[in-house]
Amino acid sequence: MHEFSIAQQITQVVFRTARENEAKLIERVVVVIGELTLLNEEQVRFWVEEVFSHKDISRGATLEIINRPALVRCSKCGFQGAPSCPGPEAHFLLPTLVCPHCGQPGMDIKEGRECLIQRITFQK
Ligand SMILES: [Zn+2]
Repeated sequence: MHEFSIAQQITQVVFRTARENEAKLIERVVVVIGELTLLNEEQVRFWVEEVFSHKDISRGATLEIINRPALVRCSKCGFQGAPSCPGPEAHFLLPTLVCPHCGQPGMDIKEGRECLIQRITFQK
């Protein structure tokens, strides 16, 4: 149920921002989900749309989810790019992410762990 709590956080921020901006309608929400969060995009979408469907202000809102690929950096050789072993099992491999260039284990994760709202469009 990780996706459900993420969806709750997303919708809370959206509703709070809508209130602060005195919005009448929420038109579009863009969320960025990093590859390494291992969140199921369809489940996040399902729960966000479920919450949105219960409120007049958000009923017609469009949800756009952008998937951000992982970006890691090697502290030994400076390689920067995709990790050598991304994929659905990555959370088991995360502690031992290995540099595809020099084989150094334990890379710095620069991108791919984020889950954030990039943009909210309102109608006032
Ligand atoms: Zn390296």
